Amino acid sequence: MKIIKFLDLKYQYEMLKEDIDSAINDVISNSAFIGGEESTRFLNDFADFQNAEHCIGVANGTDAIEIAIEALELPKGSEIIVPANSFIASSEAVTRLGHKVVFCDCNPDNYTISIPSLKAKITQNTKAIVAVHLYGHPCDMEALLKIANEHSLKIIEDCAQAHGAEFKGKRIGALGDIGAFSFYPGKNLGAYGDAGAIVTNDSDLAVKAKMISNHGRIDKYNHVFEGRNSRLDNLQAAILNVKLKSLEEWTKRRIEIADYYMENLKDLDEIVLPKRETWARQVYHLFVIRSERRDVLQKFLEQQGIQTGIHYPIALPKLKAYEYLGHGHRDFIACQLDTKLLSLPIGEHLTLNDAEKVVHAIKSFFNNP
Ligand SMILES: *Cc1c(COP(=O)(O)O)cnc(C)c1O
Repeated sequence: MKIIKFLDLKYQYEMLKEDIDSAINDVISNSAFIGGEESTRFLNDFADFQNAEHCIGVANGTDAIEIAIEALELPKGSEIIVPANSFIASSEAVTRLGHKVVFCDCNPDNYTISIPSLKAKITQNTKAIVAVHLYGHPCDMEALLKIANEHSLKIIEDCAQAHGAEFKGKRIGALGDIGAFSFYPGKNLGAYGDAGAIVTNDSDLAVKAKMISNHGRIDKYNHVFEGRNSRLDNLQAAILNVKLKSLEEWTKRRIEIADYYMENLKDLDEIVLPKRETWARQVYHLFVIRSERRDVLQKFLEQQGIQTGIHYPIALPKLKAYEYLGHGHRDFIACQLDTKLLSLPIGEHLTLNDAEKVVHAIKSFFNNP
């Protein structure tokens, strides 16, 4: 039986083997590992790709969020609003910087931040919003920018799942104040290890973020403040340079597969499909459906050789790490949806024929209970 994989990094490598191998070899033979041609090139090209003026390389997506928030220089103890359905990195950074996480709900249809819920959480102490473009679907940036304007809030875009996503034809990342990207291997654009980047159109923020990530230095041994070490190295940048060229093509494949799922699963009453807003270019880092019988369905698909995932099995407010906030399970829709979410296989490694098999398996599950 051919396994339909959830993620297939080996397939990607095989496709680009020659270019990747030679890019890696070049870095090693030049032996410039930190700071060099490859990272400069990647940061320039990725800034262009996201239509941002500045792009700073960092060690991973979690650091990108943390450094982005730190660069905003918010007063200690500021409340920062984070959607309840995300990966913990979105909220972790807030607490690590001495701020307070305030969760708000997600939309039950497109899973991004709920505007009414967000509004209800704003207080005098609210200083920023972490806008997570979850599953590669952009947040409603127009609504967010309006709220941010009215309440003098900063917007940090968590773009870890949204390389190339667009809100009303504009690439996300630098639509708010500052944006954070991850190049974790499994992301739409992934390195061969950890890597991340920060984008912004604000040159002061760019300088600040770059300094924080590089020991607060303006010169080799001239440190203006205590920063930290979080850099994108040249090996990772060289690999990303090769892969960036294929990203549009890969994204189109993701969208094609998503469209196929949407069209062919739309008549199944037993599942809820993700909504793509008319103004969204969703890049489908994940294609997430909902089913009341999620666990049995997942097991069934596994038996049919179809790998799936769950993002995320425990909504953030329900995690042990956030017990101290004292949220009840009924506080958020996100806390009730997490038992129903199921991520179907999606990615450049799949063909429409694979998608057809997935659809067929799901239909047979519900037609023969
Ligand atoms: C992956 C991810 C991150 C963290 O990125 P890392 O590179 O793994 O540190 C942050 N936010 C979201 C939504 C993610 O999916």
